[in-house]
Amino acid sequence: MALPNIPLVDLKAQYAAHKTEIDAAIARVIENTAFIGGAELQRFETAFAAFCEAPVAIGCGNGTDAIALALKGLGIGAGDEVVVPSMTFIATAEAVEMVGARPVFADCDPDTLLMGPAEVEAVLTPNTKALLPVHLFGQPCDMPGLMALAKAKGLKVIEDSAQAHGARVGGQRIGSFGDAATYSFYPGKNLGAYGDGGAITTTDPALADWLRKARNHGRAKKYEHDFSAVNSRLDGLQAAILGAKLPHLDDWSARRRERAGWYDAWIAAEVPDAQPIVQREDTTSVYHLYVIRVPNRDAVLAGLKARGVMAGVHYPIALHQQPAFADWNVTDEDMPHTAAACAQILSLPMYPELSKESARRVIVSLKEALEQSAAT
Ligand SMILES: *Cc1c(COP(=O)(O)O)cnc(C)c1O
Repeated sequence: MALPNIPLVDLKAQYAAHKTEIDAAIARVIENTAFIGGAELQRFETAFAAFCEAPVAIGCGNGTDAIALALKGLGIGAGDEVVVPSMTFIATAEAVEMVGARPVFADCDPDTLLMGPAEVEAVLTPNTKALLPVHLFGQPCDMPGLMALAKAKGLKVIEDSAQAHGARVGGQRIGSFGDAATYSFYPGKNLGAYGDGGAITTTDPALADWLRKARNHGRAKKYEHDFSAVNSRLDGLQAAILGAKLPHLDDWSARRRERAGWYDAWIAAEVPDAQPIVQREDTTSVYHLYVIRVPNRDAVLAGLKARGVMAGVHYPIALHQQPAFADWNVTDEDMPHTAAACAQILSLPMYPELSKESARRVIVSLKEALEQSAAT
């Protein structure tokens, strides 16, 4: 009999492990009919801020809105340029366009696939107003380097932390370097809601005040609106579910690192054709994804699938290659490291509950798929 498939992520395993707490949180919200705002939201915002080692966290509808709200709150709009990595999820650049600004794509470091100061510097213009570094796959960017550059050029910095809740540079949590940091609680993220959700952290009290109103129709108090804004709230059910999960997040991140350690060691010893993404020194990744580079990527992906290993690709199409951004006329020659990586990368199954037996099967399957792809 065939072994069961190993998924890329397994949300059912997490629910099964914490069903009692999560079910109780959901029941509490329904019994109190506190569906929007209220105590659950406040409790989660306070707890998430503490987790991020930030003074405040403001919940919102999703991670894309979180970026757009932060940009707008920092005064970024029409005529402004915001530097974003080409190697990221579309939301990073989409949020820039949502506020009427122009996303300017930067290439990535060939080893870490992160946007660093060198890649940013190459695309700065007199219209650059902000940087949007992404802590990709759970690995923190060079924040000290990016902040030094931003300071020298007078630029705002928003850390897109959608994939990296709780990661650290040195001892410091990501999110505390820039003017603001944005988070997504999309179900598959390291801290996932049971629907959409997002948050913004900031050390700027004026920005926090503006964000609290902006996510809720510019509302100052009942019936009174200081400005017209949007409806982008983190609802009570999501806040309660996230609040039930948050106490486990550091443990889940440690388990992700443990699994990454198994993969690292086995790949180094047994799979010379696969290269894990290089980790920067003095950083603590939370391994949202475990990404490797392989030759014959599509054949290896198919070989893994045939063996019941559901690997993924993040991302097969870089932002500068997306039809959505064709008008910006950025070519593969402009973004050589990003373009090369898109054709080679592959994400192995990664979730805190992944068993050692399953992880072992992933590596054995990877070895077989690579050998098979080389022979054909
Ligand atoms: C998921 C993600 C987002 C957007 O989050 P949503 O909650 O889906 O809107 C933004 N940036 C990155 C890097 C992401 O991975």
